[in-house]
Amino acid sequence: MTVRTRFAPSPTGFLHIGGARTALFSWAYAKKHGGEFILRIEDTDVARSSPEAVQAILDGMQWLGLDYDQGPFYQMLRMDRYKVVIQSMLAAGSAYYCYSSKEELEALREQQMAQKLKPRYDGKWRPEKGKLLPLPPVDVSPVIRFKNPQDGVVAWDDLVKGRIEIANSELDDLIIARADGTPTYNFCVVVDDSDMGITQVIRGDDHVNNTPRQINMLCALSEIDSSIQVPQYAHLSMILGSDGQKLSKRHGAVSVMQYHEDGYLPEAVINYLARLGWSHGDEEVFSKQQFSQWFDLDHITPSAAQFNTEKLNWLNAHYIKQADPTTLLADQLQRLALRGVLAPDAAKLSAGIALYKERVNTLNELADGLVYFFEKPSLDAAAVVKHLTPDIMPVLAELGGELNASDWQAETIHQVINDAVTKNGLKFPKLAMPLRVAITGIAQSPSIDQVMAILGKEEVLTRLKAVLK
Ligand code: GLU
Repeated sequence: MTVRTRFAPSPTGFLHIGGARTALFSWAYAKKHGGEFILRIEDTDVARSSPEAVQAILDGMQWLGLDYDQGPFYQMLRMDRYKVVIQSMLAAGSAYYCYSSKEELEALREQQMAQKLKPRYDGKWRPEKGKLLPLPPVDVSPVIRFKNPQDGVVAWDDLVKGRIEIANSELDDLIIARADGTPTYNFCVVVDDSDMGITQVIRGDDHVNNTPRQINMLCALSEIDSSIQVPQYAHLSMILGSDGQKLSKRHGAVSVMQYHEDGYLPEAVINYLARLGWSHGDEEVFSKQQFSQWFDLDHITPSAAQFNTEKLNWLNAHYIKQADPTTLLADQLQRLALRGVLAPDAAKLSAGIALYKERVNTLNELADGLVYFFEKPSLDAAAVVKHLTPDIMPVLAELGGELNASDWQAETIHQVINDAVTKNGLKFPKLAMPLRVAITGIAQSPSIDQVMAILGKEEVLTRLKAVLK
């Protein structure tokens, strides 16, 4: 049997970290088993769904490289299909019309609450052998309810959480079509999962409560069509913020595209998400392809995973170091443009990237670090006071002369600075720091001789002169 998994987001917001991890695990499971991964957009909540959210999900999937074999399927385009299935369930007796009015149900509810009972449908319109149903009122459009089994338990071996059993007596006769004929959420999921031949449903554990209802409906459908099978279920525990609380905007509950904007590489985000609740021995750094070969549901931790920005940064730093120079160049051109640096010299930019990429956590830090190669920096006032002290000015002036006469490689520049340091009886930083401030505007930079080599003699001398005035 071909493995088929799906990611079924509701387009009521962007693709966030939790959703992306669910998508990644479903994707990897399908890849590992040579199966198919399906994208399904669950857009039946018309009031809360939006085309922008659909686009955000598609963009997020694309950025992460989570390619799907089928879809995207849109539930709103499948309404006719749901109606056909509802009719077949009515015909088979696994669904029935219910004419109880809202007021009636509300009164029932209040009565049950007053008696400290769990509010539930009283089964007034549920057909049973030998039961005489009331006459349908003419002025009520009926809803359609699923005839949930009343006895026994519904059970499944959750691939993450282990065996779960729910007594059928706990489950109401679910409304599967509203009075206006539109099908409801759990029912659409069931029809889709069976039509799409889903073999493993991998999703967040906020859906555990839906599963017994869905299984019962699938069983009812399998009585109509014996080829329909109940899939396996794997419910992933939620992701908590680094403070152990529900994920908030500060850590993780943002769009995955925000990570792109903030300078994270998709490889880093994927690698990070893969380890969020799943492990393969001590392996921390691995590619998406490697993950899809290793992934299994046995090594998912049933407990909640905790978001950890430092770890994500660490991975991102790793992937930035490893990144293909052309990719980094293209990325930095865009990020520099956002910082007002248009059409920077490509050779200088590549050299700057090579120098800086070893020391940054994000692509934004990289771009921030590169701006001064193309624009005169504004000098950090505190650094000026601290390092551009009157005693060092004559040394800098003299150094300017020496540099002017020197050829322009990092090693020779280093030699010239070193000679000035020795000649003036200084320690290296005493001269290197003021040089940094004069040339880059701040006191932190990679090795200053290398920075100067990239920047070019003329520009270095101009910047030196500017502080000597
Ligand atoms: N549409 C649901 C959600 O976004 C997922 C449904 C499912 O995976 O079964 O939470």
